[in-house]
Amino acid sequence: MRKYRLMAPGPTPVPEKVLLKMADTIIHHRTPQFQAVLKDVNIKLKKLFQTKNPVFVFASSGTGAMEASVVNLVSRGDKVIVVKGGKFGERFAEISSAYGVEVVDCDVEWGKSVDPEVVSELLKENPDVKAVYSTLCETSTGVVNDIKAIAKVVSATDAVLVVDAISGLSADELKTDEWGVDVVVCGSQKGLMLPPGLAFLSLSRKAQKLVESSSLPKYYFDLKAALKAHAKDDTPYTPAVSLIMGLNTVLDMLLEEGLDNVLKRHAKLANATREAVKAMGLELFSEKPSNAVTAVKVPEGVDGGALAKKMRDEQGVTIAGGQAALKGKIFRLAHLGYMDEYDTIGALAGIEIVLSQLGFDVRLGKGVGKAQELFK
Ligand SMILES: *Cc1c(COP(=O)(O)O)cnc(C)c1O
Repeated sequence: MRKYRLMAPGPTPVPEKVLLKMADTIIHHRTPQFQAVLKDVNIKLKKLFQTKNPVFVFASSGTGAMEASVVNLVSRGDKVIVVKGGKFGERFAEISSAYGVEVVDCDVEWGKSVDPEVVSELLKENPDVKAVYSTLCETSTGVVNDIKAIAKVVSATDAVLVVDAISGLSADELKTDEWGVDVVVCGSQKGLMLPPGLAFLSLSRKAQKLVESSSLPKYYFDLKAALKAHAKDDTPYTPAVSLIMGLNTVLDMLLEEGLDNVLKRHAKLANATREAVKAMGLELFSEKPSNAVTAVKVPEGVDGGALAKKMRDEQGVTIAGGQAALKGKIFRLAHLGYMDEYDTIGALAGIEIVLSQLGFDVRLGKGVGKAQELFK
């Protein structure tokens, strides 16, 4: 027997309390009982997303909400700016192109965060841009973008700012209304400590205006229908009842802990991980590391694929390798959601063992000791 440990940036471990809640009898969704839950969830989601605007819940993975943020805000031939710099930034460009939306690329070297000044320049060169798309945490590179500064630039124009906070929400700071972020998209299986299957989208007044004029095809993700139902604490179609029951418990847990404390917890685990891998003689990949996930360069001479595989198959710890061009070049350790100091120390201990098996010269306990020191 081997204990199964999820340390990848999604899906993340689900607290026992939440698992039990989701095992409850399924109730019908068009009942006062379920409507009361939805009403509760809608209020708490606004607190978590730090917005007064509605936050919609879809039965899809996070990408569904990303697609919703394209098909509802713009029309064929409209122009959008997409901050790239990783697999998920690129996804916004792919979705936009699939719908015939013109993409102005804001290219960022993978591992670096976007310079808000570059976004500002692109907006000046393209005054007809309808929306700017960026990730908060670019999960593929472990980078956090300066959304506050980007929002400052975008909110001074007619364009709306859409932020993919699928991995960033609850790990990296995001003050939606205060900073002027129009749309935030999220998913259930990362910082929200739920199984995969829910997507979220918050919508500002400015963005609601675009929803009215957007003519791209859509049906399930039509935000006009979502808005109408949301006003009555309802959903247009059958909601994922069990996941929403679990969500209600998760929101209680997060709000009880307090958003500041949730952020501090992620910061503490991320900081210890960064310092620990450096103590092992490894290098961070990200220039501006997120507190959701730490991306580490696979050292010279070590097989990156074998590292992640041995971690999973022999140590029972699922970490993530690199995606696309970073395959085999980095590994990623998450700090997302239901994780604590001992999950972090355990994963670091496994990394040390596997690195030494793969011929990297590391003294066992070097990184673990560093993390312990920081947790003292
Ligand atoms: C995980 C992730 C996604 C994709 O979410 P799915 O739930 O797999 O559709 C998109 N963006 C970011 C930043 C992510 O971390």
